[in-house]
Amino acid sequence: MNPNELELNYPLGDALPAPGTTREVAPGVRWLRMALPFALDHINLWLLRDRQANVEGWTVVDCGISNDATRTAWEQIFAEQLEWLPVLRVIVTHMHPDHIGLAHWLTERWNCRLWISATDFGMARLSSQSTTGFGGERSAAFFASHGLTDPEALAKVRARSNYYAGMVPRVPDAYRRLTDGLAVEIGGRRWRCIVGYGHAPEHMALHCEDLGVLISGDMVLPRISTNVSVHDVEPEADSLALFLASLRHFDALPAETLVLPSHGKPFTGLHTRTRQLHQHHDERLAEVRTACAERPCHAADLLPVLFKRKLDLHQTTFAIGESIAHLHALWHAGELEREADADGVWRFRAV
Ligand SMILES: [Zn+2]
Repeated sequence: MNPNELELNYPLGDALPAPGTTREVAPGVRWLRMALPFALDHINLWLLRDRQANVEGWTVVDCGISNDATRTAWEQIFAEQLEWLPVLRVIVTHMHPDHIGLAHWLTERWNCRLWISATDFGMARLSSQSTTGFGGERSAAFFASHGLTDPEALAKVRARSNYYAGMVPRVPDAYRRLTDGLAVEIGGRRWRCIVGYGHAPEHMALHCEDLGVLISGDMVLPRISTNVSVHDVEPEADSLALFLASLRHFDALPAETLVLPSHGKPFTGLHTRTRQLHQHHDERLAEVRTACAERPCHAADLLPVLFKRKLDLHQTTFAIGESIAHLHALWHAGELEREADADGVWRFRAV
């Protein structure tokens, strides 16, 4: 356990729900886990006991990626964990493949509606039909313009043009819109949507005051810091400033709130965790400030400064996105200026 994690509490202990099973974490709230084929080896999904127009059933929150293993695990959940009741609705916190991947299958399987923010619905539809944002030629050119020169790494990014569509082959044709502050009634309880920017286009966390429970999605995770990147589709984005401002939305929630994150274990210590995240990024920003005061730097220059460990190719692409996000935060704040060299590579220097 890292020192930051010791400041959090895991009131449910270490017992994880086994594949195909669920664990009740609050009245009417069940936790399940699905495997992922990444370094991040699992995602947490949630089942909320629901009732709509006098029909008893469940709301599913997040879906898992689209593959046979996840579908099989869901079938086991349906057969053994739903008390023979139907799924009435699918809520998706944001557009990333592990969250929205099987939304098309779940909503067709149960003839029910997808609920998601408009921005993430649109971006998921676009990304599942194109190479926008997560790999391919434009992505490689974008990383190159931030100093990535390793031909092997660039070739890998180029080859990844099907990255998103491979895990999200389809997105439902229609949806119901979630907006910041919207109260969604689920099983007679109100769950309020809390918007978050910087990790995904328009991420929705869900807070139930009655239960003292926050479904935090990827905005607040107990062990790892949320990925905050700049992508080629929005090359001047100020993702980090958006993310840090979004964390403030959780300040108003009660300190004892039980946080249900998409990765890791349910925990308490929400305000401690958001403070740790602010501190983590403040420290990274200070390092970027110092480096750019010494000499103009591009995002790839800063990888050893920010990450201090050997990165594999996959980690390198994530890390460059994070590095750009930190440079952009200082650039948009007026602390750095940027200039492209003859090769079109952006370098940032202190103003
Ligand atoms: Zn995510």
